[in-house]
Amino acid sequence: MNTQRFLDFHCHLDLYPEFENLVIECEKEKIYTLTVTTTPRAWIKNYNLTKNLKYVRAALGLHPQLVKHNMVEDFLLWKKYFLETKYIGEVGLDASANFFHTMDAQKRVFIQILKCCAEVGGKILSVHSLRCATKTLDLIESNLPAEKGSVVLHWFTGDNTELRRAMRLGCYFSINIKMAQSARGKKIIEKIPLDKMFTETDGPFIEYGGKTIKPGDVATVIDHIAKIKKIAPSTVKDIIYLNLKNLLG
Ligand code: MN
Repeated sequence: MNTQRFLDFHCHLDLYPEFENLVIECEKEKIYTLTVTTTPRAWIKNYNLTKNLKYVRAALGLHPQLVKHNMVEDFLLWKKYFLETKYIGEVGLDASANFFHTMDAQKRVFIQILKCCAEVGGKILSVHSLRCATKTLDLIESNLPAEKGSVVLHWFTGDNTELRRAMRLGCYFSINIKMAQSARGKKIIEKIPLDKMFTETDGPFIEYGGKTIKPGDVATVIDHIAKIKKIAPSTVKDIIYLNLKNLLG
């Protein structure tokens, strides 16, 4: 499949050893790529490398797994830059075993981020919600009205009730190969309407075919979605591109 109009809506390009080359490669191959950051300390470099490109955009993040009890400094840094970009992420909550102990601080940070986004409007957020989809949706619902920003739930693993609620709130979903290959993920994909779907790799945290996944590998996510939705891969690709156009207005 031609890489033109591919979309990787959640990839950590700056965590690959070949960061700069990968940015150039995505641009050359015309893969729409959102390079999400995990800390605002990485912002300047990501922003400078991508600000004049057509296909690669940087998102300003503060990953829940990196939120420490004392998060003021990082949050202030995030706030310093957040008017420079339309794209926010990776942000959200993580209640998995290793990070549950920082949940209070995570919530405080995420609420502040949502409030800042609501205040200025027009932001697009790539949101992490591991093992706490309900809490994540609670905070989104009470702090970021749908007309004030767009939420893309990355690697969503919630249950049916949480999925229905996310859809009611108007959230989008970015789907990666791990989701598309797991029984639970397949059931989620079956239920997500095609007009709310994006593709992502979450590289470099995912391996595909024995190698670290790269943005061009969204091809395989498209194939899996096509199979689950019983439509042609080229149709899935077209719909996702259209979704991106709609999202960007
Ligand atoms: Mn990620």
